[in-house]
Amino acid sequence: MSTSSTEHLPSYLNPNDPGPWAVFLEQVDRVTPYLGEYAQWVDTLKHPERTLIVNIPVKMDDGRIEHFEGYRVQHNLSCGPGKGGVRFHQEVSLSETMALSAWMSIKTAVVGIPYGGAKGGVRIDPRNYSAAEMERITRRYMEEISKVIGVKQDIPGPDVNASAQTMAWMMDSYSKKVGEYSPGIVTGKPIELGGSLGRAESTGRGVFTIATEAARDANIAIEGARVCVQGFGNVGGIAGKLLHEAGAKVIAVQDHTGTIFNADGLDVPAVLAQVKATGGVAGSANCDTIENSEFWRLECEILIPAALAGQIHKDNAEHINAKLIVEGANGPTTPAADDILKKRNVRVVPDVLANAGGVTVSYFEWVQNLSSFYWSVEEVNQRLDDIMRAAYANLSATAEEHQVSLRTAAFIAACERILKANQLLGA
Ligand code: GLU
Repeated sequence: MSTSSTEHLPSYLNPNDPGPWAVFLEQVDRVTPYLGEYAQWVDTLKHPERTLIVNIPVKMDDGRIEHFEGYRVQHNLSCGPGKGGVRFHQEVSLSETMALSAWMSIKTAVVGIPYGGAKGGVRIDPRNYSAAEMERITRRYMEEISKVIGVKQDIPGPDVNASAQTMAWMMDSYSKKVGEYSPGIVTGKPIELGGSLGRAESTGRGVFTIATEAARDANIAIEGARVCVQGFGNVGGIAGKLLHEAGAKVIAVQDHTGTIFNADGLDVPAVLAQVKATGGVAGSANCDTIENSEFWRLECEILIPAALAGQIHKDNAEHINAKLIVEGANGPTTPAADDILKKRNVRVVPDVLANAGGVTVSYFEWVQNLSSFYWSVEEVNQRLDDIMRAAYANLSATAEEHQVSLRTAAFIAACERILKANQLLGA
């Protein structure tokens, strides 16, 4: 971490272990020299606008009261209301939520949708709780963050371990509080409650679209391309399925249950059925099980990390044998790994572009809710495709112009947009 990043560390983070927020600070430091007149405003990005920590006391099924820690961070609201998911995971922390909220600021700016960045989360391992307990926890969390969110202030969406049902509970809890049917308060809802057609698949679809664009630029034919995917849920599973349908060979998939491999290509529909039935890829037919560490050494054309942050780090980046990495997850590559991959000519398409399909269709959902006028899935997918392709073209041009990586190009383009808005607002 550079000295200037350390200076900007807020007092409420541990300087000896600042966590993912330090990664974001480093990414900002790296692009500051490219920001021209906007560089004078860059410190704005190093301080989240609003940080809320809540206590969530909830009665368990056996009558005990348990307390959970929850967060909502609004990183920057210069380009519109805050937007970003809510994550339920045992590793959720303030630093992680801050970093994820900042990446939402960058992401919404990269695809040019009128939002700022926000993120929320509850520190909990949902596997240890019943559905009824999760409902009470979600509703109580929503009541607590209702003080800072609003249809035109901050609109939560889904993230890790948040389903359409989760979003329905959040919407209901908010609607009851304000006394108004409020579908526009959250996105990722069930279709019956104002959710958008195509939202569930949108992140994976966007990853697929970006992978095909980047593959074309790297002279990789999708037909027959070997693809490795980490995480086979809503993002990796859909991207893998669409690539398989386009003729690529998904040769390996890794998730929390293990790593499966077939050099001739996995039977992707069968693996998806296995995940649906058992919760993981382990036990899929017609494949071998390999060591998890082997996954990062496999020779392939396209590698899609679509699980959690920090998966590609300085220790495994040296071994990666892919031509192209398309980041389905948020923050899967550390800055140190970025440097190693760059030296080794592995092209990385950053999360803030590659996985922006989800928030883009969340935006469509919100627009449909505000106008009470709903679109066909064809219209949703076409508009998504147009936005993703335009954003890719824009970043490729920026990368070419400054001779930088796509991640640096994304941060340059996004920081310019946000800081220009900041300057105009006179912040
Ligand atoms: N969780 C998704 C993301 O990281 C989408 C959030 C949303 O739709 O608000 O981009």
